Amino acid sequence: MGEKADLSCRRQNRGKKHTGTAGGRTEKRNIPELPETERKKKHTGTAGGRTEERNMPELPEVESIRRVLEPQLRGLAVRHVTAKRPEIIAHPGAEEFCGRLAGQTVDHMERRGKFLTLCLAGGDRVILHLRMTGRLLLTPADYPVEKHTHLIFQLDDGRELRFCDTRRFGRFWLLRAGEADTCSGMDRLGMEPEDARLSAEYLRSAFGKRKKAVKECLLDQSVIAGIGNIYSDEILFAAHICPTRPAGSLTEEEWERLAAEIPERLRFFTEKNAVTPEEYLKGRGQEYRNTPFLQVYGHAGSPCPVCGEILCRTVVGGRSSVFCPACQAELP
Ligand SMILES: [Zn+2]
Repeated sequence: MGEKADLSCRRQNRGKKHTGTAGGRTEKRNIPELPETERKKKHTGTAGGRTEERNMPELPEVESIRRVLEPQLRGLAVRHVTAKRPEIIAHPGAEEFCGRLAGQTVDHMERRGKFLTLCLAGGDRVILHLRMTGRLLLTPADYPVEKHTHLIFQLDDGRELRFCDTRRFGRFWLLRAGEADTCSGMDRLGMEPEDARLSAEYLRSAFGKRKKAVKECLLDQSVIAGIGNIYSDEILFAAHICPTRPAGSLTEEEWERLAAEIPERLRFFTEKNAVTPEEYLKGRGQEYRNTPFLQVYGHAGSPCPVCGEILCRTVVGGRSSVFCPACQAELP
């Protein structure tokens, strides 16, 4: 299916290079563009329908949450924890989770892949994964409690750390000091994109024999942690690699470009997400994203920001993917 979409893109773009326009009746009919309403929705940051994919936090969003919350949470003690939906606590039971946390102090906050960890002064750790629609808010006590608020940490400065999640896929784990993490899945994560050992050689040894599309490989959390659907498209665009290319077909130069663009792009988008605590709260923990800076994701049917060719949408491993058929040729 992906291949078909690529070919149709190619045909409709022929002879239209560098024009940057999408005029002409035939072209309009063939462009695999999303309906205008859908495209608009994608940029609003509201929950529901296809926009969920857009909202799903990846490394830049999770890191931004850590950066905005950590300085505020450091040194605060937990007075009381209320679990309105016990099923979001995966380990141990909700009662033990709430009881054990009362009285503990936050030392610092870490991120690994798309996981966040609240490291407590006594050595216990609260690990959480926001999954699809999870949001973490630090609010004044009298701040209205939103619908779908499932967990509330009352803190000793009067504020509350609240977890809201429409879909309820988000999960929390509490590990005692020294307890091995065999439950959250964080132990199975691959390298962090900022890891100095992430090289062309590392990527080739992990993916080089795979027939799978390179885009699917980038989503494999056991090799590189933190990349999802949005940033895999942005990384591949920056590296001039077509998302449908079998990983095994990449050249040495392409592995090099990929290894360079993975940390570069994620760093760029994390920086673009930077918000103040006030802005973060006002945006309800989600509407601070770097959407205006995305070059290809959500822009199918628009001109490529580099060459003007019309960007195409295809499906790779069941995930929507946008790429430029000129900048990201199907063959090296
Ligand atoms: Zn292009």
